[in-house]
Parts: sequence; C-alpha cells; structure tokens
Amino acid sequence: MKCPKCGVQMSMIREIEQTNRQEKGIKVYYRCPLCNYKVLTEEIHLDFSNGTIKIMVKPALRASFIK
Ligand SMILES: [Zn+2]
Repeated sequence: MKCPKCGVQMSMIREIEQTNRQEKGIKVYYRCPLCNYKVLTEEIHLDFSNGTIKIMVKPALRASFIK
C-alpha cells in the first residue's frame, strides 16, 4: 500500500493494547514513514475469559483513514 499523499511505500504496524487482564486488542494499520499518515486495515480482539481464547477479527471494509 502506498501513501496517497507522498506515494511512498507504507509500513505495516501492529499495535497491541491490553484493555484488561482478560482482553486484548490488536490494531493492524499501515503508516507512512514520511508524513505519519495512517490507514487502519484490521482490528483483532482477543478474549481470554472462561479459560478459552476467543478471537474476533474485524476487518475494515474500507480502509479507514486516521488523521
Ligand atoms: Zn505520506
């Protein structure tokens, strides 16, 4: 994926946020190294409650742009 502003190749980043002991959220997005433009592509939600791991993937149907 290329940055719509700069036209350079964007790098993929995974950002993990621990909301509490039993839940974790992972955001996958592309970031432009020049202008920090971000495109969110996927959100993954992990649920560790009840002794099992539940994985929910929420793909961004249209890549949403973060300013
Ligand atoms: Zn850019």
